[in-house]
Amino acid sequence: APRVFSGIQPTGIPHLGNYLGALRSWVSLQEEFGSVLYSVVDLHSITVPQDPDTLRRSVLDMTACLLACGVNPDKSCLFQQSQVPEHAELGWILSCLTSMPRLRHLPQWKMKSQSQKNEGSVGLFIYPVLQVADILLYQSTHVPVGDDQAQHLELTQDVARTFNNQYGEFFPIPRALMSNSAKKIRSLRDPLVKMSKSDPQKLATVRLTDTPDEIVMKFRKAVTDCTSEVTYDPERRPGISNLVAIHSAVSGLAPEELVRQSRGLETAQYKLVVAEAVIAHLTPIREEVHRLRGDTGFLTGVLTRGTHAAREVATPVYDAVCRMVGLR
Ligand code: ATP
Ligand code: MG
Repeated sequence: APRVFSGIQPTGIPHLGNYLGALRSWVSLQEEFGSVLYSVVDLHSITVPQDPDTLRRSVLDMTACLLACGVNPDKSCLFQQSQVPEHAELGWILSCLTSMPRLRHLPQWKMKSQSQKNEGSVGLFIYPVLQVADILLYQSTHVPVGDDQAQHLELTQDVARTFNNQYGEFFPIPRALMSNSAKKIRSLRDPLVKMSKSDPQKLATVRLTDTPDEIVMKFRKAVTDCTSEVTYDPERRPGISNLVAIHSAVSGLAPEELVRQSRGLETAQYKLVVAEAVIAHLTPIREEVHRLRGDTGFLTGVLTRGTHAAREVATPVYDAVCRMVGLR
């Protein structure tokens, strides 16, 4: 049966890239698929150093943000990854089916290990395998993610095939579901890199909780090139094209149409147009996040219910894997 799984790390408040590239489709998929699981993947977030109190707070903040975006806990199972121990357990079994060279070339390892003093932990190196386990533990068929996860999805498909060849047909081969308009939203400070929660530059990301003033300021300072005309050419003009892509994703209008409407505007003026469109889109979400954020009891309750529902699916799958592998 078709089943959707996806996850997001509790590494801070989600930004426009997370929202347009992934979370928005999480919401619409709840209507299309009968079985949908979304996880706050806290085990992934500790692959780089995290302050314990901040992490605890971030899990609840992320839960509030997901609900505010429209994830409905009555339609989808929303849970905290570490509360379902089978993720780590299946991760171990699958890590024994994955070679070191297969992991060494993955882009996240290359990027995030460079910024670590210890050159990256073993956990950071193998976390793509934990991600494979997250997906396969629910025998998922569809995974809504941004473009930065494409190679991790390929790894998931490879590991599922390896398992099926070695032990017998068991895992469906999961498919990525990617938004056409917002596969990869770029940093407002450096259009050559993706927007990231863990980017230390405050001006690089627009977060779901940013105030209208902050949003205007960030777009005003967005890095573009020295041509003042508005065009859409992601290869040659990544900065301005990123703004058009954001505008397109929040307005539902095609980039070409937006460029036509902006004829005669200087990029400086166009930045304010995009900022206004983003503010209009994010305001109801921001208000809902603030309302939910204070209600810790409610948020914990949602996650607890989600954990029970997730374990009901995960336990029999994990048991079957153990039997196939010879551990039972
Ligand atoms: P971190 O910097 O901590 O890795 P992140 O911003 O990359 O944070 P994740 O929690 O790793 O966010 O990813 C959550 C989801 O958001 C994934 O599906 C990912 O593909 C998607 N995503 C992340 N960044 C972008 C982006 N810039 N554009 C589109 N989708 C994105
Ligand atoms: Mg990431």
